[in-house]
Amino acid sequence: MHLEHWGKCLSLIKTKIGIQSFETWFKPIESISYKNKKLTLKVPNKFFYQWLEEHYIKLLNEVISNVLGKNGRIEYIIPDNTLTKNNIKSPKLNYKNTFLESSNLNNLNSNYVFKNFISGKCNSVARTAGKKISNSPGNNPFNPLMVYGGTGLGKTHIIQAIGNKIINNNNNNKSVYYVTSEKFANQFIDSLKENKLKNFSKFYANIDVLIIDDVQFFSGKTKTQEVFFHIFNQLNLNQKQIVLSADKSPIKLSGLEERLVSRFKSGLTVELEKPDYQTRLNILKFKVNKDNLSISDDVVEYIAREVDSNIREIEGVLISLMAHSTIYKMEIDLNLAKSIINKIVKNTNREVDINYIQEIVSKYFHISIEEMKDKIRKKEIVIARQVAMYFSKDYTNNSLKSIGFHFGGRDHSTVIHAVQAVNDMIDTDIIFKKSINEINKRLSSN
Ligand code: ADP
Ligand code: MG
Repeated sequence: MHLEHWGKCLSLIKTKIGIQSFETWFKPIESISYKNKKLTLKVPNKFFYQWLEEHYIKLLNEVISNVLGKNGRIEYIIPDNTLTKNNIKSPKLNYKNTFLESSNLNNLNSNYVFKNFISGKCNSVARTAGKKISNSPGNNPFNPLMVYGGTGLGKTHIIQAIGNKIINNNNNNKSVYYVTSEKFANQFIDSLKENKLKNFSKFYANIDVLIIDDVQFFSGKTKTQEVFFHIFNQLNLNQKQIVLSADKSPIKLSGLEERLVSRFKSGLTVELEKPDYQTRLNILKFKVNKDNLSISDDVVEYIAREVDSNIREIEGVLISLMAHSTIYKMEIDLNLAKSIINKIVKNTNREVDINYIQEIVSKYFHISIEEMKDKIRKKEIVIARQVAMYFSKDYTNNSLKSIGFHFGGRDHSTVIHAVQAVNDMIDTDIIFKKSINEINKRLSSN
């Protein structure tokens, strides 16, 4: 029975992700049992579990509710760990567990501590302010602290590190509570539905340190913003510490009430920037060391150079290297690192599809996408159109017919002609050839 269920899940998953990701992350999972709508799965190690949770939780939830029904759940067993079990639960169940029943649950991840947070120019202000806050929560110039920055740059890590340090300092037994804005919004809505708004408000009024992640999620949710505004004011008035994170600077957060934004800005607002090469290298070395991985310096340096988008991606590459080398018994060398960075990291970025090609090519030739799709026969527009068709054939699996359709409903023979024309120009025109190379570079560096 359990095998059948997991088999069905796998078939669904297969249709939704690339073959490489499927082979790496889903093939090695073993189905153990199925009981009371709970499917127990064995994953090779804790890296696996973390990766699944970070990258595939939505997909898994979707597939599970599809195959096992609405209340379906997954439980993970991690063999080499002291039998840790982890759950992916539906948000609703999750909310019930954490909010009403246990005010002593703080939701903090014990790995997110300052000790594991490598310092660099990109995070030094946030780090220093965070430490100060931890030593005197509520009573410092950084209240509220608003940390903002792009994805994977350490927002969740640092705001939780503050919470963990406060608990470890055991500062007058202060109560700390971490919540994502999404969960907060769900708790609020559920408390309305269940007529428990009072419990909800009381719960929040009694928190000493409120850490609230990803407040951009409040965008457009007027009622939730209103209730949060009141909670914020009440805590603030009572000198309770508030720590917030967002994916953009407060002034750029859209869909948030002005009065709320001005509260967010009233303490210290600090950005987490992208780490520079040296910081990336330090982070990598730290993680390699911590997880006891045997990776040579040149591979570590290579990763630090190539993976410059964010820290989550860096970790992703390490985890994936780990997974490959344990599953396929391969040595971690430069070639493996290269292939993983190409296949996994670069693939998770935007897929090169016809729309993207049109965007890049029209930008390159300084024309609009509309002109590209239009019937205009001006020479430079015709050339841009042909170049975009050429790359569409090269980069995508779309049929000639489908490519023609994306260019204002043109015939497939027009696409054949365009490809031919571009090939001819590449052979005869050096400057044109250079342009093609440059566009190619932009498309593949995506
Ligand atoms: P965000 O919330 O900004 O999307 P996270 O806090 O989830 O990013 O960080 C992504 C991953 O990178 C986490 O596993 C985190 O532990 C790690 N990380 C982020 N910043 C650092 C750092 N300075 N040192 C070590 N690890 C970091
Ligand atoms: Mg986060």
